[in-house]
Amino acid sequence: MHPKAFLLDMDGVLYHGDRPLAAALRFMEKLVAVPHAFLTNNPILPPEQVADKLERMGFRRPESHLIVTSAEATADWLAAEKPDFRYFAVGAEGLPIALRKKGREDAEKADFVVVGEGAGLEYASLTTGINLILKRGARLVVTNPDANVDATVDGEHRILPGGGALVAPFAAATGQEPVIIGKPEPLLYRMALARLGFEPGDCLMIGDRPDTDIAGAARLGMPTAMVRTGRFAPGEPWPSALPAPDIDVDDLDALAGLIDWP
Ligand SMILES: [Mg+2]
Repeated sequence: MHPKAFLLDMDGVLYHGDRPLAAALRFMEKLVAVPHAFLTNNPILPPEQVADKLERMGFRRPESHLIVTSAEATADWLAAEKPDFRYFAVGAEGLPIALRKKGREDAEKADFVVVGEGAGLEYASLTTGINLILKRGARLVVTNPDANVDATVDGEHRILPGGGALVAPFAAATGQEPVIIGKPEPLLYRMALARLGFEPGDCLMIGDRPDTDIAGAARLGMPTAMVRTGRFAPGEPWPSALPAPDIDVDDLDALAGLIDWP
């Protein structure tokens, strides 16, 4: 096949935690001459820091505007809903950095309670958030729907709560369903396509999660490639409720063999 451009998930596709996958280092060298962008549901690191991380691991440093995070997509969505929006954010670093560029923090009159990933959820922030929603009519928004995510903490694999889990107490306390921004919702894909200047049918989405990476791209009519280097091991049966990928391979070396490179 001959995609004009590529969209890539990162964790489980290019690396595990801080460890690059050897096949990914080879694949990205082939991709140098082809337009591509990275999209991640992880809202914790801003794009510049994601670029630093890729470079540290031995990848060529991508331009940071080609890295689309769920925190950035959230800021874009909020600004489209309400220019000059006021927000109350619960989550680590990347989220407030992205929101500050387009709105202003206001724990008393926020229009949106925005939940990301990482540290930030505690009794006090939950209380502030639910009061904003129930008494001031703020809307509940979450950067990404993942129930849990893989991470490397002090060199060891750990499973951390994802956006879907962290937003749940706000939803339970208020009865309000959150607006979900990250994959499989279309916004991240659309932002990446706009930055590259391609239509969905021109691109190949490469991911390691059937429920987010593959399902979201399929909904937009984008061809998909599943690599079984993340949550899904080779041989594991495909979840029958989800759209099957166009390509299903064990790793990026196998995928590279199926692409007609320019
Ligand atoms: Mg992944």
